[in-house]
Amino acid sequence: MPQCIPHHLLSRRAFSARQIPCPHANCSHLFKTAAGLKHHQSLLHNFSFTSSSATSGSSGQLTPAKPAPGIIRDYHDKLTGCICDANGRPIGPNTPLPPISEKRSDDWGPYDDQLQFETAEFIFKDGEMSAGNIDKLCDLWGRLLSATGTRPPFSDHKELFATINATPLGDIPWDSFKLKYNGKRPTEDVPPWMDEMYEFWFHDARALVESMLLNTEFDGEIDYVPY
Ligand SMILES: [Zn+2]
Repeated sequence: MPQCIPHHLLSRRAFSARQIPCPHANCSHLFKTAAGLKHHQSLLHNFSFTSSSATSGSSGQLTPAKPAPGIIRDYHDKLTGCICDANGRPIGPNTPLPPISEKRSDDWGPYDDQLQFETAEFIFKDGEMSAGNIDKLCDLWGRLLSATGTRPPFSDHKELFATINATPLGDIPWDSFKLKYNGKRPTEDVPPWMDEMYEFWFHDARALVESMLLNTEFDGEIDYVPY
């Protein structure tokens, strides 16, 4: 510290602006005082990651599948993934699950049967087939079956798309809003997007995450402890 600057000036300068950075990686908070920084650190950064060699199966937390060889998971020591009820009260890890409403194994939703579902999955997801090609395939399939008096799983792409659109996805409704630019405009040559009304469609993100966590297909596949 240069001797010629009086100490009281230095400290006044140091305290006059938010200058003390939080040393934590990925944190950009600045503080006026050391005490402010200390309070922030104890509030937000007062955790550590326990070395994975010491964690497996500790303290009744949900223990995820063993990581692949060569992968190390150091777990957060405060966010332990303990099971709790809706009010945050811990539940014993061996408490039986509430009843899950099971679908019948032959319930294929809007699809007639397993064949219709697998056809839709193959054409739309795996094959990413164009509407024209779907119509052609359905036509060929229909001609093949016409002698037998049966019909192909879908008569054309419209039926296929309508069936896919009717597939329930956790029953989370779509929501939408409209948006139009209302900022400054140039006096001439107004770009078309400034007059356009745009429509945004979305799912409630919280409801989506809840539905993913409710999905029994993921049982045992989610690691609830940050690492
Ligand atoms: Zn910080």
